[in-house]
Amino acid sequence: MPFPKISYWPAGVGNDLSGVAIMIGVLDLQGDVVEHLDHLERLGVAARRVKDPSHLHNLTGLIIPGGESTCLARLLRIFGVDAAILEAYERGVKIWGTCAGAILLATQIVGEKPYLGLIDMEVERNSFGSQLDSFVATASIPRVSSEPVPLTFIRAPKIRSVGPGVEILLQMNDYIAAAETAGILATVFHPELTNNLAFHRYFSRKCGLAPGKSQPLSDPTWTPTSWTRQIRISTG
Ligand code: GLN
Repeated sequence: MPFPKISYWPAGVGNDLSGVAIMIGVLDLQGDVVEHLDHLERLGVAARRVKDPSHLHNLTGLIIPGGESTCLARLLRIFGVDAAILEAYERGVKIWGTCAGAILLATQIVGEKPYLGLIDMEVERNSFGSQLDSFVATASIPRVSSEPVPLTFIRAPKIRSVGPGVEILLQMNDYIAAAETAGILATVFHPELTNNLAFHRYFSRKCGLAPGKSQPLSDPTWTPTSWTRQIRISTG
């Protein structure tokens, strides 16, 4: 039996490169891309996949998803997207890195060379242990949400320290889990893997967008497989 064809360019998540800067891009080289697209769609925020430098035009924000930071770093270089991201940041495009994305944004990585180096913080990769040591938690993050926010940590890094000018959004026991500057948001957990839209709303606002006020922040229609809406599988 032939394998089904999976399309990663679904209708509804446009790659129309014209128009004004009202879109948020999601880096689409590796990692949990569709989960972010799904959350942005739930908020009514126009989103675009970013696969090459041309897709960074006219964006107001960029999400670098979780995945594997060494793999992402390699693909960023191969496709020439690393330099384009640095240019976009200089133009004022806001950037949010989740987990591996946060690692790519850090100025220091314990035992390794940094990649994009856009936020003054030191991260330690795989700091909780193996994939089996992944876990969920809940935290109060008043700047992001008036309700407690569910957190999903998957072989996450820890932010060990931040430099001057970096604000700590969430301090856990011996580590920092979320930090930001005017241009960068870094979270070591994955809001896109929960039913909670608070961080996507927060980042959209940081990007100058005003996502749906009426949207409940805990979306009751979300399920762990909701992201499959973002791909189309055909048998042809
Ligand atoms: N362990 C991965 C890394 O170091 C990050 C995992 C994730 O993004 N969930 O790149």
